[in-house]
Amino acid sequence: MESKNIFSGPIKIYALGGLGEVGKNTYCVESDNDLIILDAGVKFPEDDLVGVDYVIPNYSHLKDNQSKIRALFITHGHEDHIGAIPFLVKIVKIPIIYAPRLAAALIKQKLAEQKIKEKVTIIEYDADSVITAGEFKVSFIRVTHSIPDSFGICVDTREGRIVNTGDFKIDLTPVGPEMEIHKMSKIGLEGVDLLLADSTNAEKEGWTPSEKNVLDSINEIFDKATGRLIISTFSSNLNRIQQIIDCALKHNRKTVILGRSMINTVDIALKFGYIKVPTSMIREVETMGDLKDYETLILCTGSQGEPMAALSRIANGTFKGLRIMPGDTVVFSSSPIPGNGASIQRVVNQLTRAGADVITNSVFVDIHSSGHPSRQELRMNLKLYQPKYFMPAHGEYHMLKLHGDIAKTMGIPSENIFILGNGDTLLLKNHKVTDGERIPAEDVFIDGYDINGVSTAVIRDRKILQEDGMVGVLLVIDSKKNELVCDPKVFTVGFVSYGDYQDHLTRHASSQVRDALEELFVSKKVTFNDIKNTTRSVVSKYYFRKTQRSPMIIPLVMNRNS
Ligand SMILES: [Zn+2]
Ligand SMILES: [Zn+2]
Repeated sequence: MESKNIFSGPIKIYALGGLGEVGKNTYCVESDNDLIILDAGVKFPEDDLVGVDYVIPNYSHLKDNQSKIRALFITHGHEDHIGAIPFLVKIVKIPIIYAPRLAAALIKQKLAEQKIKEKVTIIEYDADSVITAGEFKVSFIRVTHSIPDSFGICVDTREGRIVNTGDFKIDLTPVGPEMEIHKMSKIGLEGVDLLLADSTNAEKEGWTPSEKNVLDSINEIFDKATGRLIISTFSSNLNRIQQIIDCALKHNRKTVILGRSMINTVDIALKFGYIKVPTSMIREVETMGDLKDYETLILCTGSQGEPMAALSRIANGTFKGLRIMPGDTVVFSSSPIPGNGASIQRVVNQLTRAGADVITNSVFVDIHSSGHPSRQELRMNLKLYQPKYFMPAHGEYHMLKLHGDIAKTMGIPSENIFILGNGDTLLLKNHKVTDGERIPAEDVFIDGYDINGVSTAVIRDRKILQEDGMVGVLLVIDSKKNELVCDPKVFTVGFVSYGDYQDHLTRHASSQVRDALEELFVSKKVTFNDIKNTTRSVVSKYYFRKTQRSPMIIPLVMNRNS
């Protein structure tokens, strides 16, 4: 047994993801004996392979410090904060995940969907919770954002106080519960040593419009529409969904919900009371034909032009039982995530060509309001917390830099402002913050996809994906022991669903890969490339034999021992 140390080292604060990017938010607070993680997000690749695979942080530092990990705290249920949990729990043992109620429900659903066998304990917290995790005391500040149940996190340590705002906007007329501005100010008065804050909208002057503003524009669209109304938005934006459904109720339209994530999230939201809808309002897609056009509202996924989402399939005529016709009004109630512009434009064009009246967010219609703080809110945030040291978070480099500049104009000395990258550490000791050493925190995504000669490769890959779909193989290996940690997980995208036969194919492909790799491991010390090449060759032969197709094979290798 280890004897009880006298705690003496500084507290380390660092991001494994979330700095220099919008995505895979993962912030850590670590002392000599304890380590807590704030969020475990995923990032989606920016190029045209969106939806093909994920980018996650390198978790090797967490793996090396496994015995110190006390808990993972989640600020809210967006993918860039919870999406990597299925990967993280496979690589590192997380004793407890603390999450707000909605995020907890979404995490449970995600783990069940991905058939995660690892035991994961999830405990819900609320605005009044105070949680002791090792030597850290953790409390929460309710914020307004584009998903209900969003929180900032306050971590009290023996060396000082750290606050992470999480994603937020300061919405003074919110659709859901109020932001706890009084609590922010109280925490600020008590003293904040280091503040980490959301930088996503640091380029936008002014104040992000309230979610309530969206209501007027949506109402107007309902007033004007004479045919069917099709509205797409993010499935997690439940306050928006509630407003849209309320409008439908007022205008005597019944709601048909399309798209798997929309159906799932609305289910959870109804169960926990995040949205309230009379059941007679909701219609199944099968009975949609019984409704008159002017009685129909279709609420669906696909506002980002994602090719497999309901709206894209409706637009290109491949959605069963639903085709666009003249008189339909289609509304994109979201703004494009950087990189999605071209996909959205393609869907807009297809819809317009089919005769629909398409409405996207513009200066003329506020059918979307961001969930992130613009510059006035960032100033307000800094004013309330009054941090001694400041670290802009959640944003690309330019956003972090601008956020740092705002802090300077608010009187924080520039030597107290840290514009960092993933893996840079800060040391907090006796209420002072200094730079620490770097730890590994690069992107992890292994897709066998050569960056060289991108243009032709991308076009070739797109063609393969379009015609033959893809097969992903997730391999967790232990490079020290030279063995597979668990059976390869095979999943397909873009295949016509053969139901049971599909399961049969993935099961058999998995066991063939396992056998081939076991043989490979016996023969020699293998490299990642050996593993990928063997996997590709086994899987592509197998799928060609069974389906006469040549899908793209993407092995994702994760090393439990790196
Ligand atoms: Zn968010
Ligand atoms: Zn976020």
